[in-house]
Amino acid sequence: MENLLKRKLNLGIAACQFGAKFRYNGKGIDLTQYLGRDRGQFIWTPVCPEVMSGMGVPRLTIKLSGGNGFDFWEGNANVKDKEGKIKNDMIKQGALACLETLERAKIDAYIYMEGSPSCGVKRTTLKNQRLGNPPGVFGALLLQRDVFLISSIDLQSPIRWWDWKRRLVAFVWIKEQEVNSKEILKDIWDKIKYVLYELHEEEGTAIRDEIRDILKSDTEPSSELYDKIKLEMLTLLRKPAELENIKKHLWDNYVDLKKKEGIEVEDVLEPEALRNMTHIAQELLGIEIEARKKNYLFRSSPINYKPDR
Ligand code: SF4
Repeated sequence: MENLLKRKLNLGIAACQFGAKFRYNGKGIDLTQYLGRDRGQFIWTPVCPEVMSGMGVPRLTIKLSGGNGFDFWEGNANVKDKEGKIKNDMIKQGALACLETLERAKIDAYIYMEGSPSCGVKRTTLKNQRLGNPPGVFGALLLQRDVFLISSIDLQSPIRWWDWKRRLVAFVWIKEQEVNSKEILKDIWDKIKYVLYELHEEEGTAIRDEIRDILKSDTEPSSELYDKIKLEMLTLLRKPAELENIKKHLWDNYVDLKKKEGIEVEDVLEPEALRNMTHIAQELLGIEIEARKKNYLFRSSPINYKPDR
């Protein structure tokens, strides 16, 4: 099984983070400009639930009242504008229209804007340190459908984006594998185990132990058991890595490549060396490029994403 993903991934994104001046005050920003060449590696589907609601630009700000986005969909919370008018129907229709669009586009992940009563996932306000009533109305729909979610703030950080991209690519690659034999399970595990340990050592080890038991057993596992293990790997891949772990594993995996394959990349520093996030991202990309040129597996980002034009 080749560690290669050639399908161009589809990303949904909050339109106001893709350059559309769709926010209530007519503002918007294109955060994909920070991705450089990566921008062209994806198909983008920008959506805006508030504009699709028919509320227009500019519009009065809205807020959730009496509960969060989940409560809203159950009929136990309202969305009100600044003048106290209830906007439930418009907001519902806008959110559902965007969801339909994303489903038609068959998105692999969605990049949301944090802090919006519609799109927010962990907070629904940008005021001070307050969280508001998370998730927002559209955020709740996406969570209910288990969409792979990425916060748009992380597009500005080279290291965070690198982490999202390598996990998303591994996530889609595993999702598209039919796991129906011990050989396939072992093959997948051998390719991605180092990333899983890096994301959470205990959870990664627990998956390893389950897989070991399956491989040792004389009986063929049920399809439910294969699905369960697959889901555990996919769930762990959604977890962002800690920066300290990225640095540590970057070094270990680089040393491994250097020893086994003789790959040398300038300016790769030991974990203790002080440097900024941009430098760490450059180190990772440098090793990735060298490893892929020679077709070696770089344990930190084991799945090679080479989308067709
Ligand atoms: S509803 Fe979402 S996409 Fe639209 S402007 Fe607000 S945060 Fe952006």
